[in-house]
Amino acid sequence: MTGSLGLNTECVHAAHEPDAATGALAQPIHLSTTFERDADGSYPRGYRYSREGTPNREALESCVARLERGAAAVAFASGLAANMAVWQLLRAGDRVVAPLEGYHGTLRQLGEHVRERGVHVQCVDCRDPAAVEAALRPGARMLWIETPANPLLSITDLATVSALGRRAGAWVVCDNTFATPVCQHPFDFDVDLVIHSATKYFGGHSDVMGGVVVVREDAALLERIRAWQVLAGAVLAPFDCWLLRRSLATLALRVRAQCASALAIARFLTEHAAIERVYYPGLPQHPGHAVAAAQMPGGFGAMLSFCVEGGRDIALDTAARTRLLRRATSLGGVESLIEHRASIEGPASTTPQNLLRASIGIEDSADLIDDLSQALA
Ligand code: PLP
Repeated sequence: MTGSLGLNTECVHAAHEPDAATGALAQPIHLSTTFERDADGSYPRGYRYSREGTPNREALESCVARLERGAAAVAFASGLAANMAVWQLLRAGDRVVAPLEGYHGTLRQLGEHVRERGVHVQCVDCRDPAAVEAALRPGARMLWIETPANPLLSITDLATVSALGRRAGAWVVCDNTFATPVCQHPFDFDVDLVIHSATKYFGGHSDVMGGVVVVREDAALLERIRAWQVLAGAVLAPFDCWLLRRSLATLALRVRAQCASALAIARFLTEHAAIERVYYPGLPQHPGHAVAAAQMPGGFGAMLSFCVEGGRDIALDTAARTRLLRRATSLGGVESLIEHRASIEGPASTTPQNLLRASIGIEDSADLIDDLSQALA
């Protein structure tokens, strides 16, 4: 395939050929954990033991690398397992600059695991390039970015902040879970590594966990992450790889529809008297809107948060009354979800108590608006 194919075409065809042995269009699932050697002891088909690689994992990794326009991708059993592969690049005494606002599991890994390994963790407001620059002062080993970020959908200026990271000699890493390659390509901004919780939009149906690290070009980084994949052993089962590759065929179709719906819902909420504030980067009043418009050419994503007038109890009541938006954590599936974010984040959460976060699915937006409307009435 050439580089000029459209995204839907890439989603269907990248690393997806009919099975050479049978002609089957759907990829077979290879469950074998071990692969036969030739008489001379070699492995001419490239597979040896399934922790090291399987045909289904290879198909998933090649497809994700293609969609993110990176050199290669390395898949793990969850998004947090993918994060761990990145943290292990750091040694005691290294310094990592990370966002104040981000997925709470990532921030917990930094606070409870990375710090314990003797790595200095410095959290800054990534919306403020001057703060990032100060934190990066020469010697920082890694800059971690999440944009749009959990749960207020804050936007980090990828071009500016990534350039600061590179100038400081740090690896620049971007969690692209919320945006997906449909909306945003961090590699266009010279980021070194892109991370995904594949559990979200890649899986898209709330039925499979996975994580991926995508490497832009650095062969040494790729080698270290691949070595960790085999050593740590947090690998995906072949069926999970197969489910993820199957779901990626509809990634662009799903995410584009979800983004359009999220924008319509964000506009509806902005006008609603019971809503104090809406956080969605597609709204002109969002402080990161101009940056998001520049770096997210494919859409503003399908996650939004809003604060309900009246406080925590009214917010919980609102979530209790929705019928189509399901009360559940996670995101990125075909079904819309709503959650009271502070309660899932725990007592240390700084998220406003009256904030609800919604992951917009592929239902008709008019139905979702009707549902929110009756829940807020
Ligand atoms: N990154 C982001 C932005 C997330 O929202 C999540 C999970 O919600 C993760 C990473 C972790 O992924 P997983 O739950 O697959 O371990």
